[in-house]
Amino acid sequence: MPSRRAALAALGAGAVGLAMAGCGSFGTLPGDGGEAPGTAKGSSAAPSSTPLRTTEAEVPTAAPVVAPAPAPSFASDFTVPPIRGGLVPVITRITTAQPVVFLTIDDGITKRPEAIALLKAHGYPVTMFLTKNFVQDQPDYFRDLMREGDFVENHTVSHDTQMWSKSYAYQLAEITGMQDYAQTTYGRRPTLFRPPGGAYSATMRKACADAGLKAIVDWEAKSNAGHMDYQAGNALRPGDIVLMHFRPEFASDLDAFRSAQLSAGLTVVSLERFIGAE
Ligand SMILES: [Zn+2]
Repeated sequence: MPSRRAALAALGAGAVGLAMAGCGSFGTLPGDGGEAPGTAKGSSAAPSSTPLRTTEAEVPTAAPVVAPAPAPSFASDFTVPPIRGGLVPVITRITTAQPVVFLTIDDGITKRPEAIALLKAHGYPVTMFLTKNFVQDQPDYFRDLMREGDFVENHTVSHDTQMWSKSYAYQLAEITGMQDYAQTTYGRRPTLFRPPGGAYSATMRKACADAGLKAIVDWEAKSNAGHMDYQAGNALRPGDIVLMHFRPEFASDLDAFRSAQLSAGLTVVSLERFIGAE
């Protein structure tokens, strides 16, 4: 069986993308679990104690103010490829030398408070590829979840995993319907698109470009059923885009991701900010 990378390369501009076992259908992928040598990273800011020039009276004992360690920021070394021939690029991971990883969470069917609490506790920025028909009964859930660096992106109106094979008009409607809904509901027009199930086609890439999107974003690693699946290797790599879902097993999926992220010594940063797609 050809590797996923070979399959992708063989697709070319005009071909159809392979379904990548996402969003409800989970095929087998090589490589389960995986542990990388851990690199503990710590940062501590030592406040400088400035000597005070005093004349008299008491010098207040300067209690060092220890601010919470700021999230490290990483300069981006990645540029989104331009739209060529009317087709958006397809990105499956970010080529970068920075020790960063990106967390994407899809669909939006399951809306449990613990998912919000866990994401906030870990301080992970997230890219949410939401489907209008899954979230419109409770859009506030995702608004409550959002913090700085979090973004809602486009995962269509109805989550039709066969949409890649359908007409341009059908695909454009699926895409623009969610563009409009996100704009109205969350105040921002998405810049990124994730195909339902991961499969894409030239027609889809054209519809995305015509709807004003910058790129199709797929993945090469995912957390599912409480463990990590990798399409290459057995650990997270810098620049990996990780797929998760809003599902009942969210907590165990996030645990699996966290363990892999810490083992690999990577920091979770906002995908949109890193690639300039805010
Ligand atoms: Zn999905």
